[in-house]
Amino acid sequence: MTQPRVDDLLCRLLVQCAPEQAVAAADIATGYRSGLVLTGPKPRNTVRHLRRTGHDGPILCDAGRYAGNHPLRAGAGLRRAWTAEQHDLGLVALTDSGFLAPGDWPGLHRLLADARGHPPPLLVMLPLGAGWFAVPAWIDRLVATLNSARLPVAVAIIGDSFATRYVTRGLIRLLTVTVPVVLLRADIGALGAVCHGAHAGALATTSGLFVPALLGHHRPAVLARIVARTPDLARRWPCGCPECGGTVPGDLSPDGIYRHSLHAQLSLGDRLLATRHDVAAMTRSWRVHCDDALSLHEEIAGLMPPWPVPPALRWWRDAQPPSVGAAVPCQSTYNPDPRPRIDRRTS
Ligand SMILES: [Zn+2]
Repeated sequence: MTQPRVDDLLCRLLVQCAPEQAVAAADIATGYRSGLVLTGPKPRNTVRHLRRTGHDGPILCDAGRYAGNHPLRAGAGLRRAWTAEQHDLGLVALTDSGFLAPGDWPGLHRLLADARGHPPPLLVMLPLGAGWFAVPAWIDRLVATLNSARLPVAVAIIGDSFATRYVTRGLIRLLTVTVPVVLLRADIGALGAVCHGAHAGALATTSGLFVPALLGHHRPAVLARIVARTPDLARRWPCGCPECGGTVPGDLSPDGIYRHSLHAQLSLGDRLLATRHDVAAMTRSWRVHCDDALSLHEEIAGLMPPWPVPPALRWWRDAQPPSVGAAVPCQSTYNPDPRPRIDRRTS
């Protein structure tokens, strides 16, 4: 088994799912430059099954201890046994961190201190309450803290995420760190994050049907209504994925909707991330897509009031790109000295 590396994840759009969905998700992810994030406390059998059945893409395991009715707090620290199990499975370990409530600096320092004692390859999971992003000074301090910790991290934004302007702004600011940041549990904003320099992003399962031209999920009945009411826009709706075969996604089963949505998002990801050594080009492509989707939403709003135009698209389009060459995860010379150097040229 070759040694897994954080760099194996570079500029990938991953699929995050429960173990029950893993086989279906892996079947689709394999056709793209993707991989899986399995959420749950017992991923061992699923990982072994996926490897036995030939899925050789990157896999991360998210213990999810920060979620649920009784989330663990970050101050509880990390379990070495969890990290060891990921390494035993041949994976980059994602730490089993508890929830980081906004402003919980002691919790953050506890996670980083514990992670420093775990062997690489490792991503320190930071399940950040959305409130972290409401205070720009906190994000600046978070960036400084992560830069000095020199450990690659994975971030999940818990609570109201891309619906809130400050989260998009704060996330773009956070992506100026000099260590790799993987964004987990996101929607199509995961692709936006990678286009702004995140090391990788993971699409969580979202109900609804992904409509590429609208860059969002909608109920099939809603898409059917749009199609019926906007004959001039007919060329915008057909989908070329294997589920739809060039037709407008309509009569799909729930499993078919899931597969279509993954195909549509991952193929968009492959197109936008093709220039992965040029973050500026990816940022521009993402903004062009957001702008195009916004125009379409506005056209629909004119024909079908009161159609809600998703504000997150506007925030992504208008966000200031990170200063300096900071969107660097795809280009940087990040070296978690004294750990082995990550060689980005081979990614
Ligand atoms: Zn489709």
